[in-house]
Parts: sequence; structure tokens; C-alpha cells
Amino acid sequence: MFKRVTLFRFFNFPVKADASWIFLSILIFWTLVNNFFPARYPGHNLETYQVMGAVTLAGVIISIIAHEVAHAIIAEYYHMPIESITLFIFGGVAEMKGEPSHPKGEFLMAVAGPAMSALLGIFFWASENVYMMKYGAADAGSQVLEYLGDLNMLIAAFNMVPAFPLDGGRALRAAIWHYKNNLVLATRIASGLGANFAYLLIGYAVYKICWHNNMVQGMWYGLFGYFVYGAGLYAVRQTESRSLLSSEKVTRFMHDHIVSVSPDLTITDLVDGYFYKHYQKLFPVVDRDRLVGIITLQAVLLIDRHKWGFLHVASVMQPLTETNTIDPDTSAAGALELMQKQGRDSLLVTRDGKFMGVIALRDLFAYLSITMKVDRDRPVMTSRGADGR
Ligand SMILES: [Zn+2]
Repeated sequence: MFKRVTLFRFFNFPVKADASWIFLSILIFWTLVNNFFPARYPGHNLETYQVMGAVTLAGVIISIIAHEVAHAIIAEYYHMPIESITLFIFGGVAEMKGEPSHPKGEFLMAVAGPAMSALLGIFFWASENVYMMKYGAADAGSQVLEYLGDLNMLIAAFNMVPAFPLDGGRALRAAIWHYKNNLVLATRIASGLGANFAYLLIGYAVYKICWHNNMVQGMWYGLFGYFVYGAGLYAVRQTESRSLLSSEKVTRFMHDHIVSVSPDLTITDLVDGYFYKHYQKLFPVVDRDRLVGIITLQAVLLIDRHKWGFLHVASVMQPLTETNTIDPDTSAAGALELMQKQGRDSLLVTRDGKFMGVIALRDLFAYLSITMKVDRDRPVMTSRGADGR
């Protein structure tokens, strides 16, 4: 939704910041300098509060990055590659490249963040004590350290609330997944708790706005509740689709009555003789029984129409790569993932360079939509293909 900027790279993944993070930073700084610090630590002048606010903001940013890096290190250790760490308005998120592969890795990855925050909390509290012995409790430095200690402990505690997609909810999902051996059921339970937590947050937001007239906090809690609810819903859909499709092979959805074209054809002949005649949006290009490429209507439409008469399919087709072909024995979940990642609506099914058929995104969606409607009222444990494995 917002533009992301890469701040720096850590190991092999980038640490990015979403533009919404600027609002959060300003909100934190403004609240600390004007409300929080003067109320909790009276007796300083405005400049001191501003310096305290700036140092604290830097501490908050470092604390959040450390929390996410802890998630990322454990994920990498368990071979669940991390796409990126992104700072956004609700803190940070470590995005994985795929779904978690096993419950143990997911559980340890989830608790690593809060564990890091708790360690940081202890570190800041210990530093505060050392600092206090030297400069006293009324010193701005002691107060900033105390605040950062409290905040990290609060981050650790809040994230362990068992409401998906918070860390505690992820840990709970992994535990249920482990004991019931069913990722879909686990995701439904954890997201259900997440939804209840979201209602609580939204209720609290209404209370803050109506009774305390605190628009800023109210809006923040409301948005956060909305985010928790939406993320839970998305996770349930995603795991259900994956689970349903993982027990089916590409062959089940493959269309094999596909007309192929020769690389020597001109684009005019291709359009008139094939696109208009067979209503396919793509054609495999076959040269003497050998599959050599793929030509799509999309690619044809990008060519200047005056050139259609003398340009040949061979010069316009796309070569076969791992991003536009798939093996017939791959699971349909793998095909869905590849299409979503590549932004394609179909893939060529090939084996050993031989063309076998086409698999289309709309068929996968139609299958999911029908299966989910039919299976909606059946218990999860017995529903077809719903076992997470
Ligand atoms: Zn976390």
C-alpha cells in the first residue's frame, strides 16, 4: 500500500521501512515530548525533553529491528527463508518467502522475537540501575533507560497474547499444528482468537474516542484491530487453499486439448488463424515435436500492428523457464504459488521438454470455491484434503 525504502541489508535479506513508519515515529516523538515524559518525569526543560524523545525514538527503532532480526535468524536456521524485514505503522514484520514448513521451526521463530525483547528489557533495566547509582534517579539518562526497559518488556508481553497474527498466536498455532497434525485447524483456532482480540481492540478504540476524547490513541487501536482481523482472515484463506490444493496434482487441472503453433508463423496468421479460432490466451510453440517457447495474447498486443505481417512467432515468443512451466506431478499448491509469485494466469505443463498441457489459475479458484462451499459444514478433521501434513 505504501512505498518501501530499503534501510540496510542484514545477512541476505533487506531491512525496509514503509512510509507509514514516518507517522509512527512522529507520533512516538510527539507523545513522549509533550505528554508522557513531562507527566512521568517532571522537572526538565523542553530541550531536555526533546533530546530524551530523540534518544528514546532511536532506542525504540533499534529495539523493534532487534525483535524482527531474532525472528529472522531462527527462521533462516530452520530453512524458512526470509523475504525482508519491514518497519510499518504497527511496528515491524519479518516476511517469509513461503508458508512455514514445520511446527517446531514456526514455534521457535514466533517466540524468538518476544524473547529478544525481554532480553533487551532486562539489559535496559540493568543499565538503568548502573546509571542511577552514578547520576541518580532524577537524571534524564536513567529515565530514558527505564522507559526503554519498560517498553521492551511491554512489547514482549503484548506480542505473547495468543491472538494470530501476533507472535503468541503464531506460537499457539504451531503448538496445535504439532499436537493435532493439522495446520488448517490450527490456523482457524488461532485466527478465531485473533478475531476476538481484534473486537476487543476495536471496542477499546471506541471507548477511548467516546469517553476519553482521545482521537489519536482511539484511531490507532481501531486500525490495529482492523489489521489483526484482516491478517487472520487472509491466513485462514491462504492455508486452506494451500492445504486443499497440496493433495491434488497439476494433472488433475491440466487441459490437454491445447492447440500448438509453429515458430515460422507470422503474427497476422497467428491472430487470424489461432487466437480468433481457438479462443486460447496462449499457445505453446512447437518445432518438430519439440516445445521451444510460449506465445501469449498479451505479448502480441504489445507489438506494433504494422509489423504483424512480417514478424514471426519465433521472434516474439518467450523462452521456456522455471517461471512459466511446471511438471505434471507437482502439487497444485505449487502451481498456485508460482502463478501468484509471477503474476501469471496460466502455466505450461511440460515434462522433459515435451509439452503436455496448460494449467489455469481460474480453474484452481473455481475448484477452491466449490470445495470450500461443499465442505463448509463438515468437521475440519474429516474434510477432504484438509490435513496440513
Ligand atoms: Zn514478533
